[in-house]
Amino acid sequence: MRPPTSRYTLSGDRQVTIGAVEALERLREGNRRFVWGTPSGDGVSSHTRRANLVAGQQPFAIILGCSDSRVPAEIVFDQGLGDLFVIRVAGPVVAPSQIGSVEFAADRFGTRLVMILGHSQCGAVIATLEELRRPTETQSRNLRSIVDRIRPSVEDLLATDLAKDTDALVREAVRANVRAAVTQLRHGSELIERLSEQNGLLIVGAEYSLESGVVQVFGGVQVREANEMQEFSLAVTDRKDRR
Ligand SMILES: [Zn+2]
Repeated sequence: MRPPTSRYTLSGDRQVTIGAVEALERLREGNRRFVWGTPSGDGVSSHTRRANLVAGQQPFAIILGCSDSRVPAEIVFDQGLGDLFVIRVAGPVVAPSQIGSVEFAADRFGTRLVMILGHSQCGAVIATLEELRRPTETQSRNLRSIVDRIRPSVEDLLATDLAKDTDALVREAVRANVRAAVTQLRHGSELIERLSEQNGLLIVGAEYSLESGVVQVFGGVQVREANEMQEFSLAVTDRKDRR
């Protein structure tokens, strides 16, 4: 059963929260509009929409993305006020405050999709690789706490052939960091595990291309929705096809 295409009813009321698969499709459609330069235009500046959201919010997706100024979730997914619950931190990394933010939105608003959004040429990942190659003493403790969270997922890559090709190394490190973040978040708390196992919460990893504007979701995922398991296959592309 699919809800109507419009996100709002004619009276301007927000629809009930949608499931993870529908939410993912909505993000993909929005990203397609962004890439093609055909935004829906029904979002940010609508006074009606702003007024309707004063009483409460029901974001349909939670995005944990990088702070990079070139990757604002609302813009790359062509969404407006009240649509996305966005947490941004360099990396992105998964620390207790990020887990708490996801818990809050998933529990309070019933949001069923969480996307961890990395991106090509991520400065935090590049800084981590540089630090691994040439450790410095001068890095601030706070910055180090970000690097230290990225480090475990990327340091093994330096021992492979990828180390000889900086572009390929960074590309693979970005994906490795997102995959690690997905795993950390999936097991980040009892609440998240319970919502995943019993309430259809889906956590996926994705990568935004600075070059093309395309967001690619990766990994095959299983979705538990409406009390039944349904296979939801997402294209898993190999490194050559992606860019
Ligand atoms: Zn970044």
